[in-house]
Amino acid sequence: VKAVPFATLTTFEIGGGPRAMVEVKKPEQLPKLLSQTRKRRQPIFVLGGGSNLLVSDGGFPGTVLRMRNCGFDALEQGPEQVIVRAGAGLDWDLMVSMTVERGWGGLECLSGIPGMVGAAPIQNIGAYGQEAAESIHRVEVTERSSGAAYVLDAIDCGFGYRHSHFKSIWRDRFVVTAVQFALTPGAMARPRYRDLQNRFPGVEQVSLAEMREGVLEIRRSKSMVWDLADPNHRSAGSFFTNPLVGDRLAHALLDTHPTMPNFTAGPSEVKLSAAWLIERAGFTKGLERGRVGLSTNHVLALINRGGASARELLYLATEVRQGVWDKFGVELMPEPELLGFAQTLDELMPITR
Ligand SMILES: Cc1cc2nc3c(=O)[nH]c(=O)nc-3n(C[C@H](O)[C@H](O)[C@H](O)COP(=O)(O)OP(=O)(O)OC[C@H]3O[C@@H](n4cnc5c(N)ncnc54)[C@H](O)[C@@H]3O)c2cc1C
Repeated sequence: VKAVPFATLTTFEIGGGPRAMVEVKKPEQLPKLLSQTRKRRQPIFVLGGGSNLLVSDGGFPGTVLRMRNCGFDALEQGPEQVIVRAGAGLDWDLMVSMTVERGWGGLECLSGIPGMVGAAPIQNIGAYGQEAAESIHRVEVTERSSGAAYVLDAIDCGFGYRHSHFKSIWRDRFVVTAVQFALTPGAMARPRYRDLQNRFPGVEQVSLAEMREGVLEIRRSKSMVWDLADPNHRSAGSFFTNPLVGDRLAHALLDTHPTMPNFTAGPSEVKLSAAWLIERAGFTKGLERGRVGLSTNHVLALINRGGASARELLYLATEVRQGVWDKFGVELMPEPELLGFAQTLDELMPITR
């Protein structure tokens, strides 16, 4: 297909062009395609819906590969468990809606997350007390160097908070071609997250459909669904992940800020709220810096207010990181993948410690 700039391929609407673009309708086409691009010595970037991506103004000097297989079927269906298989190119939220319609529980709180199925395992998407990894059964992949197809068990994928081996030791190794989910037929949903408990006061269980509607409603109010009519829509959702800090730092911070939200994340690790830290460091919703800013509905979402460059966005990200570092000594890490930059993260968003 014709190569177009990343500004038209990403929800940030930022970024120059790739050299070439290919769309793959069937995973069986991958081995040949991969070997052709290898021969041309061109780097490959696997793109989904572009909703977790900040691309440099210079673009990416290689080929963008996009999976377009959209199948959705039940591989096994028993009274206790359904194994569903979805193609990497299927729209994530469309898939969630289909599982909810069928009464298959496990993904309902992940309603409204933009992007495609193939990207879900990469950062183990999560929201409202649920993570994709809780339901992922297997991940079907094609190895980029050999063209060989593998089916990986979820347990081997190294899933953690917004993390997997696909982002670390397996980086650039595989193309995800399909994801299998193990779901529960006839399930009800439990409002585990505070916003949901406020939405369903005193209720222990709701139907999957009610949960989906509740989640979508809350997400819309925070500009966390991708909606072109929303002036905050040019974003990648949360720009920073919630930082994990050692318990010594967490206790020291809690001494001075007793109301600081904190969650035990491991034996000696505490997860803090990036949104809380940013707000307390003096950044407010709706902050404007020329063509970039913070969402008027969500302090954690950096936005392109229209026509912004990657540079401008990185300046704002740096300002926020520095502000939080100065006030709390906590380092925020960006959630979106950065593509087409020659510099390291610390050079792109340097903070003076
Ligand atoms: C408004 C908004 C709200 C959001 N809310 C949430 C949220 O609540 N929770 C959350 O976790 N995320 C959230 N996100 C981030 C984003 O939607 C998810 O990370 C999503 O999974 C990205 O999917 P994508 O298809 O757009 O991937 P892309 O942005 O295109 O790619 C992201 C990464 O996945 C890789 N990738 C994509 N497809 C494949 C494949 N088939 N094989 C191998 N690698 C692949 C890419 O190379 C890249 O590294 C939000 C984003 C926006 C804009």
